[in-house]
Amino acid sequence: MAKKVHIPLQLVIEHGAIRDLHQTQVYDWLNGARVLLISGSGKTRGVTDRIQEVIGDRASRVEVLTCRDNKLDTINELERQVLEDTPDLIFGVGGGKALDMSKVVGTRSNVPVVLFPTAISSDAICSPVAVVKMLNKSTSIGVKMPQAVVIDLDVLASCPPRLMSAGIGDLLSNKTALFDWQLAHKAGKEEMNTFASLMANNAAESFMNILNQPELEQSQLMKVASEALIMSGIAMSIAGSSRPCSGSEHLISHALDYHCGAKALHGEQVAIGVLFAQYLQGEQEKVEKLAPYYEKLGLPTHYADLGYTREEMHRAIVKAPSMRDRYTIFNEYDLTDEQIDRILDEVYPDRAKNRYRLIGSSVG
Ligand SMILES: [Zn+2]
Repeated sequence: MAKKVHIPLQLVIEHGAIRDLHQTQVYDWLNGARVLLISGSGKTRGVTDRIQEVIGDRASRVEVLTCRDNKLDTINELERQVLEDTPDLIFGVGGGKALDMSKVVGTRSNVPVVLFPTAISSDAICSPVAVVKMLNKSTSIGVKMPQAVVIDLDVLASCPPRLMSAGIGDLLSNKTALFDWQLAHKAGKEEMNTFASLMANNAAESFMNILNQPELEQSQLMKVASEALIMSGIAMSIAGSSRPCSGSEHLISHALDYHCGAKALHGEQVAIGVLFAQYLQGEQEKVEKLAPYYEKLGLPTHYADLGYTREEMHRAIVKAPSMRDRYTIFNEYDLTDEQIDRILDEVYPDRAKNRYRLIGSSVG
């Protein structure tokens, strides 16, 4: 029996993708269509203006709404406006929140969504999951996959390096997540989807492989990272959950968000979580091997670089297993406070501090 899988009808990852939009299938869909652009604020507005110019003559109507946050009230307000005068297409333009909000509103109002990421700070650029803020806590909810994703590499080139590093952190987590998925399967807790697991693994591997190339150009790095993050999103769509890309390392990041003040970007926290998860998974030698990659990519190698204290990191590890009902390497341990302290010392030694500097800022 075959499974029905939702994947985008078109993926464009190119220089000048917005300028050349008339060459894509997306442009065909625009003929006489009413389009709603859900735009992030700040610098994103410039990109939204350019898209508006490019599609102005083709669409019958183009409206722009600005999305400032991912709170439930904002979603309800956007949804109300969409339902009052339903567009034929929603274009989500932004770095994270605007994309998530477009996916949620598109799903709730049954309008197809095209995403134009202006940064690649997580695998949300093409995934069936969106993060919504409810009662001041971030929660992941299931949404429909976007109908198309258009990534203009010239736009990404001006995105703060910190955001791209975060996206790569989210990508590297596929490795530890897949280990956990396998564990859950062996423990009889979950079905394994081999195709989804292959895709998520290849996404991370293809990226790691290109890092070993001498004289790697920034634009090539961005292209491969974009492709790999999209593949990760499609792996989640195939699996029907975030399982192929989210395991114990994500539980640590969720615990940092919920219990320790959410001080850094999702992908940065996940990158820190990967180091701890790999240790528990018995792959300490890989933790050491990862360090040069982290440095090369500008990823943090110590929680202190993200503003967390030792006590907060300890708390995050204690709370991580209960963050969601998902079987991971944490279920195979019953860590005592002493053991956690010892592992924290080994995984995050003092010499791992300050290899990374926070630069740039988050965009909506
Ligand atoms: Zn993630």
